[in-house]
Amino acid sequence: MTESSPVRATKPKQVRPATEGWTQKKDAEGRPLLQFASPKRGKPPVHLADLTPEQRAARVAELGMPGFRAKQLEMHYFQHWTHDPADMTDLPAAGREEFVHGMLPPLLTEVRRLETDRGDTIKFLWKLHDGALVESVLMRYTGRITLCVSSQAGCGMNCPFCATGQAGLTRNMSAAEIVEQIVRANRLISDGGLGDPRRVGHDGERVTNIVFMGMGEPLANYARVMQAVRVMTDKEHGLGMSARGITVSTVGLVPAITKLADEDIPVTFALSLHAPDDKLRDELIPVNSRWKVDEALDAARAYFDKTGRRVSIEYALIKDMNDHAWRADLLAEKLNARGRGWVHVNPIPLNPTPGSIWTASDVPVQNEFVRRLNDAGIPTTLRDTRGKEIDGACGQLVATEDDQAVAAATPLEV
Ligand code: SAH
Repeated sequence: MTESSPVRATKPKQVRPATEGWTQKKDAEGRPLLQFASPKRGKPPVHLADLTPEQRAARVAELGMPGFRAKQLEMHYFQHWTHDPADMTDLPAAGREEFVHGMLPPLLTEVRRLETDRGDTIKFLWKLHDGALVESVLMRYTGRITLCVSSQAGCGMNCPFCATGQAGLTRNMSAAEIVEQIVRANRLISDGGLGDPRRVGHDGERVTNIVFMGMGEPLANYARVMQAVRVMTDKEHGLGMSARGITVSTVGLVPAITKLADEDIPVTFALSLHAPDDKLRDELIPVNSRWKVDEALDAARAYFDKTGRRVSIEYALIKDMNDHAWRADLLAEKLNARGRGWVHVNPIPLNPTPGSIWTASDVPVQNEFVRRLNDAGIPTTLRDTRGKEIDGACGQLVATEDDQAVAAATPLEV
């Protein structure tokens, strides 16, 4: 470090995580509450995307139709992105509405849509059948279109810097509710709704990449998330997307990471680490009380060994809290101790959340953090966060009071 460096060698300032403007829920022992089980609520209606191809055929038969009708519905839903019986003239008119409704019940009612980046970023607010609210964020980049999907309404992981965590867990989403976010986004893209139509071509465009970085902890809703991933990647009976383009991001539920590695679906895996030392991570990521930094990193390395997919470490840079040069060095050391070429680091400048007293790191500090990791041989790139102006960036997804009021006045699609 040189004299003129903005990062001084004096004793680094250490801000400890604290909450302000909201109260963190605690368990009986006074530790931040972790909610793994989904509160009991009315289940969403069963939908084609919740079922395996065999179950679909059985359900079609239950509704009094021959099995091959399932294939027709799959075409309409996964390739033309419609659940409207009026679009399905290849189905017999008699009983069509009832049949389609029985297989493709409406799951998401659009409450609100916010756009930024000249229409290249769109945040959707959806109401589910029971009034629960979730969001997804659609982003056009050069050469790819990414959808950030929610996997739970709310989140039970209680991370104090994330707006979703502050609201607690409302419930798990069904596989079809997860998939429907993509179908609706594809529909909007094909209707020319993403980006200025004078600027972009829409022919055949659709969502190419999925990140499970909306509301929720995907691995706490494991079975439904995996069913959704199977539907996303199924070429014959689903959306036919590439598994590599799907990123599952987790706070670090170690047994579920191990299970994910054993599935035969090589999705991209991302671990939200945010601190290389347990002392700080215990406070930043409450689930660290169950699975420590080293256990989470071992599981991430094992994911690479099983799948050959390079894993990604997410690290929100928070001023004077986790952005110290020594932490960059410690992170590099822990990653290199587990081998080379298996991991890259994705620092995210902290996005502001309501009531938060924490701020993103200063740019020179951020750059120094990135430089140290790169110099240690760990490929490190800052995440280009989108949607900050519409509260659509990482960690900002939460249904506000205003959202709730608009949602209450929006009738459910029937
Ligand atoms: N529950 C999952 C996925 C949702 S969040 C997980 O934690 O990985 C997606 C990413 O955004 C996570 O890495 C999360 O830690 C990060 N994040 C949360 N709040 C943030 C904030 N205020 N600023 C920047 N990133 C944030």
